[in-house]
Amino acid sequence: MCLDVDEIFDKLLMKASLFKNKRVLSHDYVPDALPHREEEIQKLAYILATALKGGKPSNVFMYGKTGTGKTAVARYVLKKLTERGAKLGLDLSYAYVNCRYRKTNYRVLIKICDEIGCVGLPETGLPTDVIFDKMIRHIDRRDQLVIIILDELDWLVKTSGDDVLYQLTRINNELNRSQVSLIGITNDLKFREYLDSRVLSSLSEESIVFSPYNAQQLYDILKQRAEMAFREGVVEDSALRLAAAIAAQEHGDARRAIDLLRVAGEIAERSGEDKLVEKHIIAAKDEVEKDLIEMTVRELPLQEQLILLAIVLSRQRNTDSRITTGVVKKIYEEICAELGYKPVTLRRINDII
Ligand code: ADP
Ligand code: MG
Repeated sequence: MCLDVDEIFDKLLMKASLFKNKRVLSHDYVPDALPHREEEIQKLAYILATALKGGKPSNVFMYGKTGTGKTAVARYVLKKLTERGAKLGLDLSYAYVNCRYRKTNYRVLIKICDEIGCVGLPETGLPTDVIFDKMIRHIDRRDQLVIIILDELDWLVKTSGDDVLYQLTRINNELNRSQVSLIGITNDLKFREYLDSRVLSSLSEESIVFSPYNAQQLYDILKQRAEMAFREGVVEDSALRLAAAIAAQEHGDARRAIDLLRVAGEIAERSGEDKLVEKHIIAAKDEVEKDLIEMTVRELPLQEQLILLAIVLSRQRNTDSRITTGVVKKIYEEICAELGYKPVTLRRINDII
C-alpha cells in the first residue's frame, strides 16, 4: 500500500486541533490551583512560613502513592514561598532534584549544586565528599536559606544507600552563616521501614501524608485540566467521568487520569473526530497500560531485565508445563553467553525471581 504522507499532513493542517493547549497535560505542568489538596498545601505552607521570618523550617517528609499530588504541592508551595521571600528581600531559594532520574549520590549532589548555582563541576570523577564540601562552601558564602527537595528519594537510597542523605540531614552542623531545610518525598509507603532510624527522625521532623483521590476528586481535577487543554465543547462529560473512575481504581492516581485524557485526545484527533467520548478513553486505557509496562521493564536493572527475558522465553519454549528455576537459569545463561554478560549466581537469580 502506498501511503501518501502529504495527504496525512494536508488533512491534519486543514482540521482544527481538538487541543487548545496540550502542554497543560504534560507530567511536569503545575496548575495555579490544586483542588482537594487544600489541607496538604496549608500544612506545608505553615511549616515553611518560618522561612519568611528568617528562621529555618523543620525538615518535612511527604509520602503517599503515585499521582496523589506530592510533587505538584511541593512545587506549588515552594514557588509561592520564594516569590514572597523575594518581595520581602529575603535570601531564600530552593533546589529540586528528582532522584528517580539521578539515582546515585554523585548525580544527586551535582544536581543540587546545579540548582543552587554552584556550577562547573564534572559530571563524574570527583569523590562525593569533595562535591559535598564544594556545595557547603557555596551555600555558606552568604547568610541564606536553601530548601532542598529530594523527590522520589527512595530511588536514591535503594540504589546508592543513605550516605549522602545522612550527610544532608546533618549539614547544618557544618554551616555557619546559612541554613538548609530538607523536604523528602516518596511514593513508596514502605520506605520508612528501611530508612535508618536516625535519618528518618531528622528527615521527618514534620510529615505530610497524601491519600489517594476518589473518583469525584479525580473528576474535578480532570475537569479543570480539560478546560485548559481542549477547545470548548470537545470533551464529553461522560468521558471525564469514565477516566476518573478508571484512575480511581488505579489507587486514585491523578497522573493516570491525566494521561488517559491526553492519550484519548490524541486518539480522537488521529481518527479525525470532533469530540472526545468514552470510547476514546477506553482505547487510551490500553495504550497507557502498554506504555506503563514498557517503562517499568526499561527501568529494571540489567540483570533483572535478562532474567525477565529468560522467563518469557522459557514460557514460549515450554507451553505445557510449569516453569522451573532450573529452566530459567539455563536460558538466562545462554542469553548471557550470547550477549557477553557475566551471569549472576543461582542465589541471586532466586532473589531476583
Ligand atoms: P505525585 O508526585 O504524588 O506522584 P504529582 O504531583 O506528580 O503526583 O501529580 C500527578 C499529576 O496530577 C500532575 O500532573 C499533577 O499536576 C496532577 N495533580 C495532582 N494533584 C492535583 C490536584 N489536586 N489538582 C490538579 N492537578 C493535580
Ligand atoms: Mg512525584
